[in-house]
Amino acid sequence: MSRKRRLALEIREAYEALSPMIDSYTSSACPDCRQVCCIDRHAAHDPADLEFIRLADSDAIPGEPPRSDDKKSCRYLGGRGCVLERWRRPYRCTWYFCEPLLELMREADSRRYRQQLEALQRVGRLLGQMRGP
Ligand code: SF4
Ligand code: SF4
Repeated sequence: MSRKRRLALEIREAYEALSPMIDSYTSSACPDCRQVCCIDRHAAHDPADLEFIRLADSDAIPGEPPRSDDKKSCRYLGGRGCVLERWRRPYRCTWYFCEPLLELMREADSRRYRQQLEALQRVGRLLGQMRGP
């Protein structure tokens, strides 16, 4: 197995560990949101996103339905949030934290907050390694 593939599998695992932590905040904040952030302009996977997804699972490259107006809802936004598993979303989707989410995170107990930061840092560090020389 290549080094990049091994790192991609580790990143996927790290995303899967991180996702429930972020979901615990989005499930509180997002249902009542009046300015949903998921608009189509955010949803394009860049080449680095696609390289990671291909390495982690070549069958998991998200289909690219036709783009709509950049200001309309993201093509991957379903009735209960994003239809893509977190590791298959564009990198920027996981790294966006609106003020209500940040507030919930600040209110969480410090152990949980620290675990989430560590999980985010782990994903970022591994992605850096995978994309490096
Ligand atoms: S992440 Fe924030 S801005 Fe986006 S839908 Fe949820 S509450 Fe709204
Ligand atoms: S989180 Fe999902 S629905 Fe939201 S912008 Fe990203 S890909 Fe689209």
